[in-house]
Amino acid sequence: MPIHHNTPSVPLVLVAAGRGHRAGEGLPKQYRLLAGLPVLVRTLKALLSDARINPVQCVINPDDLALYQACIDRLDHAEQSRVLPAVSGGQTRQQSVKAGLEALLSSAQANDTEFAHVLIHDAARAFISADLLDRALTIPSDTVAAIPALAVTDTLKWVDGNGMVDQTADRGRLRAVQTPQVFRFAALLDAHRQAVQSGHTDLTDDAAVMEQAGYPVGFFDGDPHNIKLTLEDDFRMAEARMKACMIPVTGLGYDVHAFTSGDHVWLGGVRIAHDRGVRAHSDGDVILHALTDALLGALADGDIGQHFPPSDEQWRGASSDRFVQFAVDRIHQRGGRLVHVDITLVCETPRLGPHRNDILAVISRLCGLPTTKIGLKATTSEKMGFTGRGEGLAAQAIATVLLPD
Ligand code: MG
Repeated sequence: MPIHHNTPSVPLVLVAAGRGHRAGEGLPKQYRLLAGLPVLVRTLKALLSDARINPVQCVINPDDLALYQACIDRLDHAEQSRVLPAVSGGQTRQQSVKAGLEALLSSAQANDTEFAHVLIHDAARAFISADLLDRALTIPSDTVAAIPALAVTDTLKWVDGNGMVDQTADRGRLRAVQTPQVFRFAALLDAHRQAVQSGHTDLTDDAAVMEQAGYPVGFFDGDPHNIKLTLEDDFRMAEARMKACMIPVTGLGYDVHAFTSGDHVWLGGVRIAHDRGVRAHSDGDVILHALTDALLGALADGDIGQHFPPSDEQWRGASSDRFVQFAVDRIHQRGGRLVHVDITLVCETPRLGPHRNDILAVISRLCGLPTTKIGLKATTSEKMGFTGRGEGLAAQAIATVLLPD
């Protein structure tokens, strides 16, 4: 019987405490961007896409708490509700997993439940597929330990102390192993406690901890795409692969506001002195409103009026940058990436030119785009129609977004 039939949900320890020095300069690798999203966010989203995974206990380096929290903020509320508060890891991976297991035990005891099995996964394996996760979750319920493994295709050599070939390994007896690894919860915790008592501190996976304690460890099929992002080069390949898995979508936005008496208008987040103002519930920024609708349109996720109803008093006089920020966040929550926007302002006055660079700077900041990926244009309507008669302002926007297929 597969394990998830006995237990409606299976907890998972996500090991994210490493420093990742082999991946080059900069942030620890689990916080580096992969096609626009931190690796940890991609891994968490992939894991949480399977409803059987619950709860997730992340183990982090306490120095990374702000980076970690920024990742959690990028999950939607339903995903966040399945992630327990992070615990601090130790000096080694082995110590970090033990900290995660002890924390899971505490949370189970607090809820008066027991975990039959537990999954252990590395945050740096962001390409975990639904199929591999399913294989981990459907091992027989009497399994003590099972790990995803691949046959080795390269020929492997033993080397001697002088860096010369000593002998050729029998690769038929070798396997390359990955995570997620699956264990009986009580057995793995016992094995980790034994490992500490016998002085082991740096066993490189949990199967090794189980082997030390004398527990049997079996295999299930791994996935060659389930790579561990380790070296600088891994990131380059992963970036290309992630992009190849994204599909481009576009969204269109249009907004109008009528002139009324006043001394300024807001355009693209910039306050522009003018001999008229605009009639609006919020600040009446047609550029940012059209842009927000373009972003929401790309997600097929309603429109600005649906998310920020004019009937709602809290949006009276609201600064429109928050609407754009909201829509950009929705893109990130879907694992998507905004790659380009193009905007046209339609009016006789005011002139866009003097404020162009200021507006570009605002949109660049809000959208996380370089100004080379932001089209910003203005046109009159040749004195025709409501904009031509100077009765109001209009703007159009189009956004290009890459979304996971
Ligand atoms: Mg509007």
